[in-house]
Amino acid sequence: MDFQKLAERLLPGDYPPPEQFEAQYPPRGLAPSAAVTRLAPSPTGFIHLGNLFVAIANERIAHQSGGVLYLRIEDTDLKRKVDGAVEAVIEALRYFDIRFDEGAEIDGPNAYGPYYQRARAPIYRAYAKDLIARGRAYPCFCTEEDLARLRERQTAEKQVTGYYGRYARCRDLTEEEIDAALAAGKPYVIRLRSQGDPAVKHIFRDEIKGEITVPENDQDVVILKSDGIPTYHFAHAIDDHLMRTTLVVRGEEWLASLPIHLELFDVLGFRRPKYGHNCSLMKMDGESRRKLSKRKDPELSLAFYRREGYHPRAVKVYMLTLLNSDFEEWYGKHPESPLTEFPFRIGKMSRSGALFDLNKLNDISKNELSRLSVEEMADFLRQWAQAFGSPEQQAYFADEEKLSRVLALCMGIGGKKRRKDFITAAQTLNEIAYFYAVPAQRDAYRVDDVTRDAVLDAFAATYDHADDAQVWFSKVKIIAADLGFAAEMRDFKADPSAYRGSVADVAEVLRIAFTGRANSPDLWSILQILGEDVVRARLRAAHA
Ligand code: GLU
Repeated sequence: MDFQKLAERLLPGDYPPPEQFEAQYPPRGLAPSAAVTRLAPSPTGFIHLGNLFVAIANERIAHQSGGVLYLRIEDTDLKRKVDGAVEAVIEALRYFDIRFDEGAEIDGPNAYGPYYQRARAPIYRAYAKDLIARGRAYPCFCTEEDLARLRERQTAEKQVTGYYGRYARCRDLTEEEIDAALAAGKPYVIRLRSQGDPAVKHIFRDEIKGEITVPENDQDVVILKSDGIPTYHFAHAIDDHLMRTTLVVRGEEWLASLPIHLELFDVLGFRRPKYGHNCSLMKMDGESRRKLSKRKDPELSLAFYRREGYHPRAVKVYMLTLLNSDFEEWYGKHPESPLTEFPFRIGKMSRSGALFDLNKLNDISKNELSRLSVEEMADFLRQWAQAFGSPEQQAYFADEEKLSRVLALCMGIGGKKRRKDFITAAQTLNEIAYFYAVPAQRDAYRVDDVTRDAVLDAFAATYDHADDAQVWFSKVKIIAADLGFAAEMRDFKADPSAYRGSVADVAEVLRIAFTGRANSPDLWSILQILGEDVVRARLRAAHA
């Protein structure tokens, strides 16, 4: 067979030889220790936690080593393309402070582009032509039905399914057969003519999983589809090489394809990058662990964290906690340091599924938000409210002074200990809603209605907005005593049966009346922020 002629026939015209691409995309000239990593999403519009997980690892490894992180868009599968998806990826990752140095829609040197795979079609074809000319790839005219029949046969014969070895019917077509098929206008794909033997196994050093055994590939995988568009396998090998990627960190769902990728790198004459296959994120579902699912778990989508208003730092801290087991300890010692100072190492990544737990993230979020200044908190809330808040919530930001007082009080700033009531922007704005409107809901009063009204009446009768906290509280104590509650906790504790309850029960009535909640920051301070008119109006409303 004259492979050269076949190549010309299948892909006629001048395609640059591989050496030309080597010259056009030379090694980057970085220090040997500098890692070139990438994110290579398909533009489906759905960006998930797994993407962020891998993005943080790639970003840290690249930037910590003085290397490069670039963004490549794997858009060969047109059916899945969604408008605005690329911008959405960049946006979503920027929120978590993942910045690309170059790539699709990135303002960078971009010397290794184009970064959209669709724009690279001539490059893939040039390499495919070269493989055909070297007898390492061939046209396959099998139809979908042929392949379905083959699968059935292999299943019946209890053989591995796929297009390989003696099952690869088009692998050894004669020149005349190929000519006839082409003349008949039959559609065809280009397949790799694999040289591997799966009985031969090699030890492979995965940067995350450690040493793993990988069999050789014998599948004659498709490299160019019938429309001339490459498959992921083929395109990513060429791109990772020409973009001079040194390390591929990707999801472990690609581990099964690793034998194919290794063979492709070898047959293309490329030096292999290092690979790290990252474990899937798991969650507990009852007693068992399972992968996070797009259908069942809203928290899988990165959009969820934006919409709920999780602080990006909290999400990042949690991701780092999951990514490197010693992060938590480091963070405990360096709570004020930029996260970029943590010495991230790929070798410390978990080899088996990391367990994602929203409650744990919520705890971290409480901690992170409690450490913000009032100004930082107000900015964070404002940005969220502008994008996602209700008009009522957006109106909170009209009176900055009031908002600052509210936040300082609710965060416990200036107090003995910071409060940790806030988890997300959405939840925080709900939490402080009572400063702006009569509470929409109230916790249940523990006392009966008659007692409740008696407390409210007595309070209304003696309330003076000018009272300081001590005077105010002494009045509450008097109300308590008058109604048969212990004015002092210690009296109540000494002899509970002598009272209907304690001053705490009376204070709780007031707390629920004003805030809707049985727990709140200091009530006197809340009333000072509400202002006298609102205090009196709420007393009337609580009564109704
Ligand atoms: N386009 C692939 C995906 O979205 C990329 C896998 C890789 O990182 O190589 O899953």
